[in-house]
Amino acid sequence: MERLKTIEVRIGDGLVIGGGRPVVVQTMCNTHTSDVDATVTQCLELAAAGAQMIRVTVPGLQDVPALREIRSRLNDAGCHIPLVADIHFSSDTAVACASVVEKVRINPGNFHPDHQKARQKFAEFLEVCREHGTAVRVGLNHGSLGKYITDLYGNTPQAMALAAMEWLQMCIDASFFNVVVSLKASNTVVMVQAYRELVRLMKESGVLFPLHLGVTEAGNGESGRIKSCVGIASLLREGIGDTIRVSLTETPVNELPVAAYLADYFSDAGPSVRNPMLDAAIKWGPMLLDREIDAIPESAGVDPHLEDEIMQAARRRFYRPEYIACPGCGRTMYNMEETFEQVKRRTSHLKGMVIAVMGCIVNGPGEMADADWGYVGEGGGRVSIYHKGEPVLRHVPDSEAIDKLLELIG
Ligand code: SF4
Repeated sequence: MERLKTIEVRIGDGLVIGGGRPVVVQTMCNTHTSDVDATVTQCLELAAAGAQMIRVTVPGLQDVPALREIRSRLNDAGCHIPLVADIHFSSDTAVACASVVEKVRINPGNFHPDHQKARQKFAEFLEVCREHGTAVRVGLNHGSLGKYITDLYGNTPQAMALAAMEWLQMCIDASFFNVVVSLKASNTVVMVQAYRELVRLMKESGVLFPLHLGVTEAGNGESGRIKSCVGIASLLREGIGDTIRVSLTETPVNELPVAAYLADYFSDAGPSVRNPMLDAAIKWGPMLLDREIDAIPESAGVDPHLEDEIMQAARRRFYRPEYIACPGCGRTMYNMEETFEQVKRRTSHLKGMVIAVMGCIVNGPGEMADADWGYVGEGGGRVSIYHKGEPVLRHVPDSEAIDKLLELIG
């Protein structure tokens, strides 16, 4: 398999992404960024577990001093792992973070509600990044494309790729090339099509920016791992992908062995210890997703439950509800892992229904736009319940929220 020869992007002093180099493994903290102690502790744990880059949410300008403190405390501890500020809904925060950490992720869908202002603000942001040698991720999500993007381009994989190209073209026009791009979706087919289309468009434009791959809101446990492997492997097997994140609704340290396994699987050496579940997902999932096969051959000896999970992850057959659950981050308002487990237990009979469990009211509703039903933490022990993208119950105490959700589903 030949790797796509993307340009090289430098993140801080020691990390280079792209150019056919080994796939870089990254993850994201789920601590509150304002809790500097907890975030520093988690970063050290993640770095020790093999993360090569760590993303930290920065909800607003008031959190920038905490980010600065986290960077400085990690440096003092001898940990120089690149940090990525994750920004939504605040272009000013993106600008402020550009002089603090090695990379800033922005989401074109919510960088600024006004298209012209978004372009202006992005140009200013790139100048600050240039001055400080900061890298950028243009990170689109299918669930949060934003009104101006869907008005302009629609809500398809092709639209995601076109929207990304608009932002990449702004970088090219500014001669700013320290850029990585991602087009994540919870739906593996949408995600794979979007990246393929983007690669086609980037080839036409003449600049191949490195690609960050991920399946968003993949959930947890076996199914979260399998879904991530199916989506990410579908692209890695054709040489697309320079850095990956496996998003799980679990402690982020659990994401790293899965991501490392994927990276190793497609390296020359391969994984040192085989994992039969991940092997089956990586081998058969992409073939199912691309409709090269309609079922896993019996001779492969894959057990029926695992086959069901791989078929569902590749969106070929749905044997249970489809769950969308964000991994949680510094914006998360409640114990997501426990709640998600309970929701799964109590809705397992609702085959084919799409049920979302999201950590915050800021991004959750947008990111789960495809869901039939959504459980969204508001903070302060309250929950909003959504149906087809609209809130149907607000401020429900969290002790009653799962019952209410089930009542509403009927
Ligand atoms: S939806 Fe989840 S991962 Fe996304 S910002 Fe909110 S809590 Fe964080």
